Amino acid sequence: MENIIEVKDLTKEYKNIKAVDNLSFEVKKGEIVCLIGPSGSGKSTVLRCIHGLEVPETGHVYLNGEVLDPKKSNYQELRNKMGFVFQHFNLFPHMTVLENLTLSLTKVRHMEEEKANEIACNYLTRVGLLDKKDEYPNKLSGGQKQRVAIARSLCTSPEIMLFDEPTSALDPEMVIEVLEVMQQLAKEGMTMIVVTHEMGFAKTVADRVIFLENGKIVEENDAKAFYENPKTERAQDFLKKVMH
Ligand code: ADP
Repeated sequence: MENIIEVKDLTKEYKNIKAVDNLSFEVKKGEIVCLIGPSGSGKSTVLRCIHGLEVPETGHVYLNGEVLDPKKSNYQELRNKMGFVFQHFNLFPHMTVLENLTLSLTKVRHMEEEKANEIACNYLTRVGLLDKKDEYPNKLSGGQKQRVAIARSLCTSPEIMLFDEPTSALDPEMVIEVLEVMQQLAKEGMTMIVVTHEMGFAKTVADRVIFLENGKIVEENDAKAFYENPKTERAQDFLKKVMH
């Protein structure tokens, strides 16, 4: 199957820290790839570089073979093919759930309100939150906010979804409802790159795991093989600490 994302020789530095150190990997269409590793290993920075939220010092990201370059005229168009789900949801507090979902459809894509509402309601139904469409985000639980954020991303028909620790800010009892939505998306064939500490999710849903440390890939492996029989000592140590 063809690559949807290629990350080539990516380096991102903050002052004297190499957050991402000459990193390369590919993601195929339909694949679920989890980026895992200790805190500060560069996982979020990689994801943010892919989505253009950070500008790398060196290297490039390609989407369907086309380079993501802010200087090129197709840059926003390419970025719009990616959905990004943040740890802290990033919903607009002064807008209702429905308005949060329709905003980019009406303002960026100039869609008629009626059509935008129809699409938004369809995705709210899929994440089980249609009854909350007229609520403001502060009336929702963390798990519900994140499900709304996922629905909002899906409204723009992304070809790939990027998740940056989507359950880390949630109370434990709300983690499962968000993981279930993600699992459903995976089943439907969505390509996903997921930065996560949820080892259960990575083990059961991911096709492939990329284990990072100090901004470098320490091990890249089939998810099942990674958890059952990690190749590197560093990954073995890490798994001993995080698997209960
Ligand atoms: P992870 O997602 O694996 O926890 P990050 O990508 O968030 O790791 O961070 C990698 C390294 O880059 C860490 O040392 C972190 O402190 C540093 N870093 C990340 N973002 C910034 C920033 N905006 N300014 C300075 N340093 C940063």
